[in-house]
Amino acid sequence: MYYKILLFGPPGSGKTMLASRFPTILPQLTYEESLEVTKIYSVSGYLDEETSFINLRPFRNPHYTISKAALIGGGNDLRAGEITLAHNGVLFLDEILEFKKNVLEVLRQPLEEHIVKIARASGTVTYPANFTLIAAMNPCPCGYFLSNSPTKSCNCTEFERRKYMDKLSGPMLDRIDIYSFVQGLDYREINKSTSGENSRDIRKRVEMARNIQYKRFENSNIKCNAQMNKKYINQYCVLDEECKKILQKTHDAYGLSTRAYYKILKLARTIADLNKNENIYKSDIIEAIQYRKFLNKNII
Ligand SMILES: [Zn+2]
Repeated sequence: MYYKILLFGPPGSGKTMLASRFPTILPQLTYEESLEVTKIYSVSGYLDEETSFINLRPFRNPHYTISKAALIGGGNDLRAGEITLAHNGVLFLDEILEFKKNVLEVLRQPLEEHIVKIARASGTVTYPANFTLIAAMNPCPCGYFLSNSPTKSCNCTEFERRKYMDKLSGPMLDRIDIYSFVQGLDYREINKSTSGENSRDIRKRVEMARNIQYKRFENSNIKCNAQMNKKYINQYCVLDEECKKILQKTHDAYGLSTRAYYKILKLARTIADLNKNENIYKSDIIEAIQYRKFLNKNII
């Protein structure tokens, strides 16, 4: 069970770089996960003598011209699609609005069920398809809305921006867990040797948070916060009065769907775990809400 992320940002803000680095902060593959990935790559004919066992999380970034069959699998020779090749890793869809609508629509079922069912004349074939989805897009047609670029500014009208965003279908948006705006770094910041957290340290924190979750769900049939159903959410995402008020206010102001409401609670639990907080604090719930905020004023 992995998160679905949508990155907004002006051209050249490093969305692709960010996405490609993402597998390096995920926990290392377990032996079982490596086996699953290796099996997929083996039957797809991607293994050679030099690579006989895959122990790194896959990163797949198909171009927006990809066909339905190449994305989800199938075709005459029944090949695994990109979503299966991304199993236990990352599927990066850059310029998501450029993908054909009917191609994106076929992602809905695997995003829900983490497997893909391909109908054949002889019956249905099922492939694994459990991956982190990272989609990326510009925030507006010209690309520079809310950008901090010193040389370029957005010249789109509000109407044009709305029309552009409307291209993403509601059900697809509702399945996204995290919306994040990526600001371009100007050259001074890039040259400044910043002491940002490196991938190895982030991975350590992610693994620490994972371990908290393994312990939490030791005696249940799930492994991580993202898999919590309503019962577990009520048990492990207890909010104090202040946090409850904040979430209620967000709910009322933006008409959150039930799905979005529970996604915020699960995400807040994970943020609290990353911060080693036993209870969900105000800052955790506010951060989780931020990730569903969209271009400052719209919330999905
Ligand atoms: Zn613009």
